[in-house]
Amino acid sequence: MISMTGVNKHFGALHVLQDIDLEIPRGQVVIVVGPSGSGKSTLCRTINRLETIDSGEIRVDGTPLPAEGRALARLRSDVGMVFQSFNLFAHKTILENVMLGPVKVRRIKKDNARETAMQLLDRVGIANQADKYPAQLSGGQQQRVAIARALAMNPKVMLFDEPTSALDPEMVQEVLDVMTSLAKEGMTMVVVTHEMGFARKAGDRVLFMADGRIVEDTDPDTFFTSPKSDRAKDFLGKIL
Ligand code: ADP
Ligand code: MG
Repeated sequence: MISMTGVNKHFGALHVLQDIDLEIPRGQVVIVVGPSGSGKSTLCRTINRLETIDSGEIRVDGTPLPAEGRALARLRSDVGMVFQSFNLFAHKTILENVMLGPVKVRRIKKDNARETAMQLLDRVGIANQADKYPAQLSGGQQQRVAIARALAMNPKVMLFDEPTSALDPEMVQEVLDVMTSLAKEGMTMVVVTHEMGFARKAGDRVLFMADGRIVEDTDPDTFFTSPKSDRAKDFLGKIL
């Protein structure tokens, strides 16, 4: 579903992604961990072309990433992304936030978009908040709306970049529960998170990044119980 071959990316002198080769099959849930600044966010952002790359190739479902125009808009809706900050439109209701993409980008009729949006809000457990505005919801609820909004585009892949790290502790689990059910339903997911419980329960694979490279690529239990590299041991020593 996602294929990266020889991908390199610099920010000025900083070589932020170094020779990344990565194949992610359909339905796999990939957890990305690593120290701050190791390139995790940049890796995610290249997959829906929020960042360009300097060399190499990225394909999503077999198609090389388009450079611009309608093809790029289509790619962005095929690859849903959920960030640490929820980025909801403050002046639109929860329902309108979820309907907007399908109506504007997918050109779905409003009635159909509303029906789908309500189903998705129900799925993330907040259908009863549909007519409220983002500021009236808790952080955990807003993040669940952000997930529903990404799902409304019927994506092939979902990218999550530290989706729970801005949340109060008591709201983390409700968001992880939504992500776990999505994983069980077979969504292809790339999740940057240090939530080890989620990684072990929902993850098929862990990538450990350091200095722009994938240093370890293994299953969650192996990674968290017996990491191979000194970098990973050192990192786990700090977060556990
Ligand atoms: P992580 O998500 O693992 O913390 P990032 O991918 O955000 O790491 O960043 C990797 C490195 O690239 C960091 O050193 C960061 O400061 C730098 N970086 C990220 N985005 C930019 C940017 N737009 N311009 C310049 N440097 C950046
Ligand atoms: Mg990051």
